[in-house]
Amino acid sequence: MAASLLGRDKRSTAASLKAECSRQDGRGVQLLGELLDSVLSPERAVAEAEVIEWCKSLMAGGESFDDFCKMVRGYDNATLCGLVWTANFVAYRCRTCGISPCMSLCAECFNAGEHTGHDFNMFRSQAGGACDCGDSSVMRESGFCKRHRFATSSNIPCVPNELMMMSEHILPRVILHLIQHLRDGYNEPDSDPATERDLQKTLQQMEPLISLLEDLTKMGGAMRSILTRVLTNHQIYKDLCSGDLCTGEKAYTKKNYEKYLTALKGSGLVSSEERSVTSVLDQMAGASNVTILGATAGTGQMDSSDEEEQDGSQGVGKRKRVKLSNSTKDSSIMDILKHKCFLEELLFWTVKYEFPQKMVTFLLNMLPDQSYKIAFTKTFVQHYAFIMKTLIKSHESDTMSNRIVHISVQLFSNEELARQVTEECQLLEIMVTVLLYMMESCLIKSELQDEENNFHVVVNCGEPLLKNNTYWPLVSDFINILSHQSVAKRFLEDQGLLQMWMNFVSFFQGMNLNKRELNEHVEFESQTYYAAFAAELEACAQPMWGLLTHCKIRETQEYTRTVVRYCLDALQDWFDAINFVDEPAPNQVTFHLPLHRYYAMFLSKAIRCQQLDLDSLLPDQEMLMKMMVHPLQIQASLSEIHSNMWVRNGLQIKGQAMTYVQSHFCNSMIDPDIFLLQICASRLDPDYFVSSVFERFKVVDLLTMASQHQNAALDTEHERSMLEGALTFLVILLSLRIHLGMTDDEILRAEMVAQLCMSDRTHSTLLDLIPENPNPKSGIIPGSYYFETMLSAVADFKAPVFEPGGSMQQGMYTPKADVWNQEFDPIMVILRTVYRRDVQSAMDRYMGFLKQTGKFTSTPWPPYRERAPLNPSYKGLMRILHCKTLHIVLFTLLYKISMDHQNMSEHVLCMVLYLIELGLDNLPEETAEEEEMFGEERCSDSWFHGTNIATNLHHIINYVRVRLPETAPEVTREPPASTSSDTSSFIQGSRRATALTRENSNTAQVFSLVAERRKKFQEIINRNSGSAIQTAAVRPKTSKWTAPNSTPQLTTTILEIRESMLSLLIKLHHKLSGKQNSYYPFWLEDSESTSTLDPMQQIHGDGIIAIERILLKTAARSRQNKCSIEEICRKVAPPVPPKKSNSADKKALDKEERRQKARERQQKLLAEFASRQKSFMETAMDLESPDSDVAMDVGSTEQPDSETVYDCVICGQSGPSTEERPTGLVVLLQASSVLGHRRRSTEPKKLPTSDEEQIYPEDTCGTAHDVRITDLQQYFKDAGFGLKWALMKIKFQSSCLQSVSIGWEGGVYVQTCGHTLHIDCHKSYMESLRNDQVLQSFSVDKGEFTCPLCRQFANSVLPCHPEKSEEKSIWSPYNSKSLLTLIKEVEEQQEQLGMFPVSICSITNLSKEMESVMKDIRSATQKKYIDYGKTPGSPDNDFLFMYSVARLNLELELVHRGGNLCLGGASATTKRSCLNQLLHVLAMHMRLFRIDSAYNPWTRLTRLTQVMDYGICDDEKPEVPLLYRDVSSLLLILVLTMPQELHKEHFTCIVKVLYNLLYTQAVSTLSFQFSEEERAAWKNSGKLKQTMCNSDKSWEVLLSHIICELSKGRLYNASNTGQVSMLGTNVWSPQSIEYSIQQFCLPFLRTTSLLQHHLFGNDLPSCQRTEEFGMLASYLGLLLPCLQSNDEFCSSACLDWPIAALDLISQWCLEVTTSAESHSEQVTNLLVQDPQWSLPCLLQLPENYNTIFQYYHRKACVHCSKVPKDPALCLVCGTFVCLKGQCCKQQSYCECVLHSQNCGAGTGIFLLINASVIIIIRGHRFCLWGSVYLDTHGEEDRDLRRGKPLYLCSERYKVLEQQWVTHTFDHINKRWGPHYNGL
Ligand SMILES: [Zn+2]
Ligand SMILES: [Zn+2]
Ligand SMILES: [Zn+2]
Ligand SMILES: [Zn+2]
Ligand SMILES: [Zn+2]
Ligand SMILES: [Zn+2]
Ligand SMILES: [Zn+2]
Ligand SMILES: [Zn+2]
Repeated sequence: MAASLLGRDKRSTAASLKAECSRQDGRGVQLLGELLDSVLSPERAVAEAEVIEWCKSLMAGGESFDDFCKMVRGYDNATLCGLVWTANFVAYRCRTCGISPCMSLCAECFNAGEHTGHDFNMFRSQAGGACDCGDSSVMRESGFCKRHRFATSSNIPCVPNELMMMSEHILPRVILHLIQHLRDGYNEPDSDPATERDLQKTLQQMEPLISLLEDLTKMGGAMRSILTRVLTNHQIYKDLCSGDLCTGEKAYTKKNYEKYLTALKGSGLVSSEERSVTSVLDQMAGASNVTILGATAGTGQMDSSDEEEQDGSQGVGKRKRVKLSNSTKDSSIMDILKHKCFLEELLFWTVKYEFPQKMVTFLLNMLPDQSYKIAFTKTFVQHYAFIMKTLIKSHESDTMSNRIVHISVQLFSNEELARQVTEECQLLEIMVTVLLYMMESCLIKSELQDEENNFHVVVNCGEPLLKNNTYWPLVSDFINILSHQSVAKRFLEDQGLLQMWMNFVSFFQGMNLNKRELNEHVEFESQTYYAAFAAELEACAQPMWGLLTHCKIRETQEYTRTVVRYCLDALQDWFDAINFVDEPAPNQVTFHLPLHRYYAMFLSKAIRCQQLDLDSLLPDQEMLMKMMVHPLQIQASLSEIHSNMWVRNGLQIKGQAMTYVQSHFCNSMIDPDIFLLQICASRLDPDYFVSSVFERFKVVDLLTMASQHQNAALDTEHERSMLEGALTFLVILLSLRIHLGMTDDEILRAEMVAQLCMSDRTHSTLLDLIPENPNPKSGIIPGSYYFETMLSAVADFKAPVFEPGGSMQQGMYTPKADVWNQEFDPIMVILRTVYRRDVQSAMDRYMGFLKQTGKFTSTPWPPYRERAPLNPSYKGLMRILHCKTLHIVLFTLLYKISMDHQNMSEHVLCMVLYLIELGLDNLPEETAEEEEMFGEERCSDSWFHGTNIATNLHHIINYVRVRLPETAPEVTREPPASTSSDTSSFIQGSRRATALTRENSNTAQVFSLVAERRKKFQEIINRNSGSAIQTAAVRPKTSKWTAPNSTPQLTTTILEIRESMLSLLIKLHHKLSGKQNSYYPFWLEDSESTSTLDPMQQIHGDGIIAIERILLKTAARSRQNKCSIEEICRKVAPPVPPKKSNSADKKALDKEERRQKARERQQKLLAEFASRQKSFMETAMDLESPDSDVAMDVGSTEQPDSETVYDCVICGQSGPSTEERPTGLVVLLQASSVLGHRRRSTEPKKLPTSDEEQIYPEDTCGTAHDVRITDLQQYFKDAGFGLKWALMKIKFQSSCLQSVSIGWEGGVYVQTCGHTLHIDCHKSYMESLRNDQVLQSFSVDKGEFTCPLCRQFANSVLPCHPEKSEEKSIWSPYNSKSLLTLIKEVEEQQEQLGMFPVSICSITNLSKEMESVMKDIRSATQKKYIDYGKTPGSPDNDFLFMYSVARLNLELELVHRGGNLCLGGASATTKRSCLNQLLHVLAMHMRLFRIDSAYNPWTRLTRLTQVMDYGICDDEKPEVPLLYRDVSSLLLILVLTMPQELHKEHFTCIVKVLYNLLYTQAVSTLSFQFSEEERAAWKNSGKLKQTMCNSDKSWEVLLSHIICELSKGRLYNASNTGQVSMLGTNVWSPQSIEYSIQQFCLPFLRTTSLLQHHLFGNDLPSCQRTEEFGMLASYLGLLLPCLQSNDEFCSSACLDWPIAALDLISQWCLEVTTSAESHSEQVTNLLVQDPQWSLPCLLQLPENYNTIFQYYHRKACVHCSKVPKDPALCLVCGTFVCLKGQCCKQQSYCECVLHSQNCGAGTGIFLLINASVIIIIRGHRFCLWGSVYLDTHGEEDRDLRRGKPLYLCSERYKVLEQQWVTHTFDHINKRWGPHYNGL
C-alpha cells in the first residue's frame, strides 16, 4: 500500500492523507505511518532530495509548501528577533542599551531602533551570535526596534489545529530519521583521519534534512512550538528510540542502537579507559607529596600519604587537596549520560560531531521558544562536562570553541535562566569540576623555593591546553554566569565551591618559574610566559573581578570574609607545600601569585566599600611576613631585569616584566602586589620592612660611609641601578594611593594623566592604555565620571594635521597646561611604564612645558606632589618614614653623595630628598619636642635617638665605624671614643660567623640591617606561635650565601663624620649650585616671612630648589631645626672630601653615572635619528613633489642664447648633450586614464549607495571619444588618407585615425624629477642595480629604478635634444611675411623629400636612444590602447598614438594648471616639465612619416580643391570631412610632421589656418542648437550683411552662410528632434552666441598656447578669467596687439582667411553634405562637437561611512553574483569588485588588478569596504594608502576593529584626488609591494 503511494503525485497524496487523518478512526494515521516507513526507510531506499520533497508535501497537506509557510507565519507570536548568525556577520552592540555586556543586535534591528548618541559600535562576530532585540532580560526596552517594541502575542490568532496536524504526525519521524543517521554514521575517531572524513560525509548527507528543519524554525512561533513538543517529549522518544524497541526484528535498528551505546560510553568524565589515569590523579590529590604522574619524591614521605583523613588539625607539612571524584556532591556530574528525549540525544550527537554549523544554527534558531530555551539550557548543562571533554580532545579546538560559545552565550547571558540552571542543574559545581578536571590533566611539580621538598603542583604552561588557550570557552562561560548577582551569590555562599575554586587557583600559583642564568645564555628561550600570563588573567583574575563586583556593599561583608578566609587557608597550604621558611630562594622569580592577589583585592574591597576592619581580616605577623616575600621578590626582580642582570635568560624575561605592568594586566598583577606590600609595610615592624627591601635589592653592602666596599651579592656595574630601584620602590610604596584612598574617578584621572604625559595619544590608544579594572572605560556605573568627560577635563584635542609629504597624522590628545602644572606625577608614570625611556620622554615633555611657559629654564627635577589622604586603615604605612633604619640609609646616602662616592647619582639624591620630604609631610602625631625627651639609654647605638625624622634631621653623627679594604684612603685614621657603626659594615659580619665574633670583640655597638631583620623575625615568630615554628625558623640558609672566593683583607676603621642630615643638605646645596655658601636662610634677613611662606609654590625646579624647599619645611616643623640651620649657615665650612680635589664642584656626579647618562642619551639619539631619518626621507621627497617651488633647473631651451649644459647625477660631469654621448632626463612613463574619466558636468558624480542609484560611463571623455572613432571608422575611408613611410616610400593607408586623438584612456604620461644623466652612465647604473642583492621594491628587469640623486621612482630616460647653433636663429619670433607666402612655405616644406635632418639618416647614439625611448613609451601602456586601426600593428596606429602622446601631455599639464591658463607662466608645473624634450623625440619619430600631398589636409585647409574626389570610387568610403575633424589633432600632426625644425612664423601660420576651421566648426555646431525659426531668422539677417566690408570677419555673415550651405544636405531635418539643445529654450542673443563660440574655441587656444610655450619658450602672460580668450589669441598671434584691449571683443576678429571665406566654407560644407546620406543618423553627433570637459575628479563620497558599508558589505558582485569576502570599490568609476576572490579571477588576474587595468590603465584606487582603507594599485605594485574616513577623535579605524562611526575627512580625500590627477602616487607613498595579480 505505502509502496504504491510512493509513486504517486505528492501533493494530491498529501491532500487525501490529510483528509483521512482528520477523521477520528486512526486509519489515516496508520496509512501515513506506513508511507513514512518507506519514505524514511533507514536503508535509504529513497534519495535524500526525494525524502525532503515528501516531507514538505506531507506537512503542507495538499497546499504548496510555500503557501503553507506563509500561512504558518501568519500565526507567528514571537516577540523576539532571535536572528542567528555565524562567524563574520556584522552586528551591533550598544552599551547604553545593554544590560548584559554580551548583548548584540542585527543590523536591521539596530537601524530601526533609536541609538543616536549612544555608546555603540559595530563589530564582526567572531563566534556567531543571535539578535537580542525584544529580550528585556538582556537589553533595555528603549533600545528595541519598532518591530519588536510593540510586538505582542495577544493580537495573533490561535493556530488552527488542522493546519499543524500533519506536521505533528510527521516531525517525530523526521527527527528519528535524523538521529538514526547520526547514530549510523558514527565511528569512534580513534585518531584515524579516515573516520573523521566519514563523519564529514555523514554530515554532508544530513545537510538537506537539517536545512529543512532550519527552514521550519524560520516559520515562526507556531512551528517552533510543535518542534519543541516533539524534541522534548519523553514518551515520543521512548516509543521511537529506546532500547526496548530496538531489540526487535529490525537488524538495522539494533545495530544502530548499539552504536549509540558505544558512543555513550565515553561520555562520563571518568570513563573506563581513563580510570587508570584518574587513579594516579586521585593519588596525587590525596597524597601529601604530589608529583607528576608516576614520579615520586622520596619514599619516606610516601608512607604518610594515606593519613589524609586526619589532616584536619595539622597545619604544617600537610596538603589538603580536594580529590576530584569526591569533591562534587553529586556524582551525576561525572557519570555517563542518559537521554530521555530527542533534544538530549540530538545535542549529544551535535557534540560528538563537534558542533556542525548547520546543527548549531538549527538549535539556536529554536531559542525564541521559551519552553524550548529552558529545556535546551538544561540539556546543555547536562552535557556540559561532556562538551568540554570533547573539546580538549578535538583537533579543531578553535572552531569548536567558537561554536560552543556561540551557543552558551545565548543561554547564560540571561540571568533568570542562568539562576535556574544553577539551582536545578548544579551549573556552578559542574563548571568548577570541569575546570579542575581540565587543569589536572597538565600538572607538574613546582620547583619554587625548595626543589626537593616541594610538593606543590602547578600547571605546565607548555601544554597545548594552556598554549592554545583551549580552556577559554569554559572560562568565558564561568565569567559570564558570575556576572549575574544571583549566581555569584550562590557561589560565594557555597563553601565547598569556594574551597574547590581556591584549589583551582592554586594550580596557577607560582607557575612558569624563572631561574636566573648566571653563566651561559639560555639555549632556548621558552615562550611559555604568554600562556602563563593569559591563564592567570583569564582563569584567575577575570572571575575574581566578576566576584568582586558583587561585594560592593556592607550587606555582602560576609562573602568577603569567607573568600578571605579560604584564600588565607590556600596560601598557608601553599607556603607549606613549597616548604617556605623565611627567605626566598635566590635567583628565582615567578610573576604568578593569584592567591596573593585574590587576598589583596578582596581586602581592598572590604576596606573601601564594606567598612570592614582591616585587622580582623589580617593573619598573624608571621603569615604577613611570608606574604610579603614573593611580591617583594618580583619588585626586586623587575629592577634586576631593568639592570640587565637577567640578560642570559634572553628577551623573554623582559617580555614578562613588561607584561606584568602592561595596561591589560597591571590591575590584576602589579597593583594588587604593591597594595599587599603596602599592607605588610603598615603592619610589620618598619625596621624589619626597610631592611628587607634593601636586602632583597642586594644593595646593603653599598650602604657604607667608606669610599670603597665589597658587594657579595651584586656586581659593581649593577649597584647604582639597583640602589635606584630600591629607592624608587620605596617611593612608589609610600606615595601610591590606588587602593589606599583614591576614588575611582581619581584613579582614572591619574592613569590618564600619566599616559598623556608620556606621549600625546590617539583616543583609541589611550583607551587601550587605561587599565580596565576597576575603571570601566566607557562606564555605565552611575556616579562615576565617564571616560570622555574625564578626557576633556585633562586633555586638549589636536585635530589631525595633514602634512604635504603624504604622511597623515591622526587626531591626538595632549595634556592641558594645568595638568603639567599641577598633576604631572612621575611616580605614576614610573609605575605604568614598560620602557624606561617613556619616563625620560615624560620628563622631556615636562621640561618643554616649563620652558615654554617660562616657569623654569634649566633641567628640572621630577616635581614633588602632595598625595591624596590615606585611608585611616593604612596609616601605619607612614611608620616606614619614621624608622631608624631608613634614616641611617638616608644619612649614609646623603653623605656618600656629598663625598662623591662611587655609584651615586642625581636620581638617588632625588629619591632621598623625596623620602625626606614625604617624612616631613607625614610627621607622627607626637610633637618633635617630645622626642627630645627620650634618653640616651634607650638607644643601643649612637646613630639616632628617636624615630621622628624631624628630630633626626639635626642629629649630628660624629664618628662611624666602617669596614673597608686596606687599600682605601681612610684606613690611617685613629678611632675616637664614641662611634656609630656603619650600616653595611656588619653585614658581612652577620653572614659569616667568624667575622661576627671578631666584630663583637670590639667595643662599638652593632647595628646591622640584616642582623636586625633576623632578630625581629625571630622575635615575632616566637611571640606568635609556640614550639611548632622553632624547627622551621632557625634553619639558616647558609649554603645560599656563598662568600666571594677571593675576599681582600678588610679592616675596620673609625671615620670622623661630624655631620647631620641638615648640614649635609646644605653642603649639597652648595655643591649643586657650584658656589660656596650659596644657601642662606632668608628668614634671617626678613624675620617676618617665615610663617607666610608657602613652600609648595616652588614645585617646579631642580635639586637646589628641592633642597631649599625641604630646609624650609624643616624649619617650619621644628624650632630646633631652624636653629640648627642658622648655625650651620653661620659656620663657613666648605666640605672637604678626603680624596678628590674639590675644585670642580659642578661635576658632582661621578663618572659611572655620566657614562650611564651618556649611554641613555645616545640610545635616545639613535631612536630619534631613526625616526628623523624616516621623516627626513619624507621631507626630502616633499621637495621633489611637483607642487614644490624648489625645482631643479630642467635643461629646457628657455634661454636659447647659451648652449644648455647638463649635469650628470651619476658621474658628476657637466656638458652638453651630443649625438655621440647623449644626456637624458630621468623620467617616469606611466599609462593614464585620468583624462578619460573627465565628465561634462562640473558636479562630481556621487558614489551610489542604493540599488536605485547608478553610474553610467556614457558621459565620460573616454567613452565619448570611443564612440566617435567607431562612428568615423564605420562611415569613412579608413584607408584613404595617404601616409607615406618616408624613407622606404611605402604608402600606408588610414583615414579616420587622423581625425581624432586617442590616449584619453591608456595614453602615456611623461614626468621627470628634473635630474639628468648620461645615458651610458644610466646603463651601467642599471647593471649595478641588477646585480644588487638587496631586495628592491621596484623591478629592475622592467627598467625601473630610482633617481640616483633624489630617489624618485622612474622607469626610462628621455634623451635631450642637442641644440645646433644655426637652429637658434631660426627660432626667431618675429615675421613680416604675408599669410599666403607662409602657407606656401609650409606646403613646400611638407613636399620636401630627403631633406631630413642628418640624425635620422645616419644612425647615431642619440637616434638609437630616441628609438629606444619610443619603445619604452609604447610598452608603458597596453596594446589595446595603441591599436585603434583596423590593421593592428600598422604604422597608422603608431602615428596616431605618437601625436596623441603629445596631446595627452599637453592636456594633462593644462589640468594641473587648473584647467585654464589665466595664471600664465607663473605656475610651478612648467619648471619641471619635459614637454620640450618629449616633443623633440616625438617629432623626430614622426618625421619618418610623410603625408601624401593628395591627401594632405593642408591643401584642403588653404585652397579650393576638386571636391569631385569624393565618391569617385564607389567601393571606397569617403574621406572624413574637415568639419568632423579634431582641430587640435590636426595642429599636432602638422607641427610634428614638419620635416625640419619649425619656424615660429610657420607655427603661427598653421594656427591661423586652423583657427578658421575651428571657427567654422563652432558656428556650425551652434547652428544646430537653434530652433527652426531662429535658424531661419539668423539665415536671413546674415545674408543682408554679406555685402559689408570685412564681411568674412562677421559672425553673422558666416553663420548665415553655413546655415544656408548645410541646409542643402537636409542635415537640420535629420536632427530636428532637438536632441541637442544645450541651452534649452533660451532665445539666442548676439552675446550668448559670442560666448558660446568662445567657449568652443578656448580648449584649442589653450593647448595651442601651451604648445607654443614649450616649443618657443615665450612666457605665458596672466589675466582675468574673462579675458582669457583675448589674451591667448594675441599670445598666439591671431590678433594684432592693438585690438586686444577692446571690451567688446569679438572672436571673429581673429579670423584671417587666405582666400574667399565663403567659398572655402562652401567647400567644407559640401564635404559633409555629399557624404551625409550614408550616415544621416550620425551627422549631428559627428558635426556637433563639444570639446569642453570639466576637471577630472573622484566620486563624491557620503559623509558617513556606514552608508557605504551597509550597502556594499553584503552586495553581490555582478560577475560571480556572490557576496565577496573582501569587497572593494573603485573610487574612480564606482565599480564593485571581489578583492582577492578566486571567483572572479580571469587568467590569473584577480578582479581588482583586472579592473585597475581596464579602468585606469594600470592605476586603481580602491576602497576596501571591510577595512575602510584605500589601496592603490600601480602596475605590478600596490600600497595601502590609508583611510579617508576618521572617527570623531580624528582616528582611522583600519579593519573596523573598534566599529565606531566614521566620517569623511574631505582634506584627506582631496589629497588622494590630487595625487591621482598629478600621477604622484609613486613618489609620495612609500611601502610599495608586488601584488602578483592576486588582488
Ligand atoms: Zn534583530
Ligand atoms: Zn528588532
Ligand atoms: Zn542604544
Ligand atoms: Zn655621467
Ligand atoms: Zn631626481
Ligand atoms: Zn574603475
Ligand atoms: Zn567579482
Ligand atoms: Zn567574485
